[in-house]
Amino acid sequence: MLPSKLPQVGTTIFTVMSKMASDHGAINLSQGFPSFNCYPFLMDLVNQYMRDGYNQYAPMSGVPILKQRIAEKTLISFGLSIDPEKEVTVVSGATEAIFSAVTAVVCPGDEVILLEPSYDSYAPAVELSGGIPVYVPLSLPDFSVDWDRVSAAITEKTRLIMVNTPHNPCGYVWTKEDLDNLASLIQDRDIYVVSDEVYEYITFDGRPHLPLMSHPLLRERTFTCGSFGKTFHVTGWKIGYCIAPPVLTEAFRKIHQFVTFSTATPLQYALAEFLMEPSRYESLSDFYQQKRDLFCGGLKKTAFEFTPAQGSFFQLVSYGHLSQASDYALSVKMCQEVGVACIPVSVFYHDKQDHKLLRFCFAKDDELLEKALGLLQGLDWSRLG
Ligand code: PMP
Ligand code: GLN
Repeated sequence: MLPSKLPQVGTTIFTVMSKMASDHGAINLSQGFPSFNCYPFLMDLVNQYMRDGYNQYAPMSGVPILKQRIAEKTLISFGLSIDPEKEVTVVSGATEAIFSAVTAVVCPGDEVILLEPSYDSYAPAVELSGGIPVYVPLSLPDFSVDWDRVSAAITEKTRLIMVNTPHNPCGYVWTKEDLDNLASLIQDRDIYVVSDEVYEYITFDGRPHLPLMSHPLLRERTFTCGSFGKTFHVTGWKIGYCIAPPVLTEAFRKIHQFVTFSTATPLQYALAEFLMEPSRYESLSDFYQQKRDLFCGGLKKTAFEFTPAQGSFFQLVSYGHLSQASDYALSVKMCQEVGVACIPVSVFYHDKQDHKLLRFCFAKDDELLEKALGLLQGLDWSRLG
């Protein structure tokens, strides 16, 4: 048998649940991807750049015009000035950005703080570099950060902390106090930050997204990971970016060049042109707020308990008052017997802690959401128990 470098890891829950949804003809609110298409103009642009011959390797760090447009959008959206050539790298999805950033920083024996529940790719990336994940739970019910616990988890060996705002799966959005607290904890230590901000354009109720790099001290320590998949409804294109100060970007590119080397050229040119109109990304929060409100409006007529998500395109619901079934068993039953697939939140905990929470993705057509809500409203808990 080939010894595994990741003995605890199986196939990701997203793959498992999407397949189960497809096998059982269930409405798939599990894996996070839109059920609708991207703008036709964006597809036309890719087509045009392919036909115009932009089909060979892109430069390793990304095509200059796209790096420039990423810098422009960072200035337009967040008022932050970055150097496109020295601080922006185009990558093959945020997953690659996270992996390359972690690999650039973590050496064997280094400790890395992960706030749980945490996205599934973080711990394996840390472990493949010989790092040691140190898990700190977020505080229920709102999944805010317990700064005393983070402080208590820091040791001489702590090298990195992983941040995700807006948060998947919980939807928590970091506040100015969170940024200040993190900065004061790491300022006198040699600790870096990988900040997964793939839902940067999806926040609700007027809440702003605060990039970690908007804080002067965090700006110097942070690798910010972004994804065009989320912002332009093209998760299947696997294209994103990493923004980091020049010294960190240099270290990042050393890894990136041997992970993928570069990212699909026609996609890069098309996205560069598409980014010229800021309303295409600035309107995303309004677009998804309508969907969150539709979904939460329908959830009110179910027996689930929930607090509307602050950001991301996921909604958590709690069912502990209705059933003592494990969240995993309930998710399987809901998919196979009710016809709605979701994600059990325990999978985002290293020890599979079960808080009786389910995650639904509402990045779906309104009709599909209505149909799923109809099924959830008709749930017979005596049968599901
Ligand atoms: N981070 C988070 C929090 C995500 O939810 C996702 C995917 N949905 C990713 C990273 C990966 O992004 P990409 O598809 O661009 O690799
Ligand atoms: N990020 C998506 C989610 O949370 C899934 C991406 C994937 O399947 N790797 O559902």
